[in-house]
Amino acid sequence: MKSTTSVKDINIHDASFQKHCCEKFGLKLSKCFLVHINNEYIREGQIDPRELFIMKNITTEVEECSKSIQDRVDKMFEIISDSKCPEVTIGSHCSDSYDCPLTECWDGLPEHNIFTLYYGGKKCHDLYCNGVVNIIDIPDSYKLNDKQQIQQACITSGEPHVDREAVMLKPRIPAPKFPEDLGKTWTHYSKSRFGSARFRYNRIGSLLQTHRIS
Ligand code: SF4
Repeated sequence: MKSTTSVKDINIHDASFQKHCCEKFGLKLSKCFLVHINNEYIREGQIDPRELFIMKNITTEVEECSKSIQDRVDKMFEIISDSKCPEVTIGSHCSDSYDCPLTECWDGLPEHNIFTLYYGGKKCHDLYCNGVVNIIDIPDSYKLNDKQQIQQACITSGEPHVDREAVMLKPRIPAPKFPEDLGKTWTHYSKSRFGSARFRYNRIGSLLQTHRIS
């Protein structure tokens, strides 16, 4: 039984390992099922477990995954009993499917390393696998989105990025009233020849966030 809302690849691997362990000790399993949450269930009165949970037959997937399981178990024992650590570099496996608790492997990275790329996701791992460690070393031919390009330009030049047009949209705002406005944030919308923008202010009138709408 899993707290997920669908069957995931990792669940099949998990179930095939459990089946392997059971069968090693003489308990033959003819079918495997995975029970997960039905995220479309709407409670009306008492909880109905037959509606709240979905039972999925995963026997075929588990059989398929089990074919090479003994080889993988042997490999794991080989690694565990080796006196040297395996040569594995950082990558998407560090957080997929679960976060690895070891952080030392990431310690040697420079400040503006490729994994700090704004919403970099898969790009970070692709670039790192191709030998790019620093954001400033991303080749011009590599496609970055607008914000990532701004980030790279700022790191390269050492200068902050200022959207001057958005700043000029800043409207005059009334002075905050105390104590009524204490602890509040508020939002202003402004339109001018430069476009529209939304501004968020904190309780003493300092600008928290500017967001261009058009
Ligand atoms: S952080 Fe964990 S998964 Fe990633 S390379 Fe280091 S030991 Fe391996």
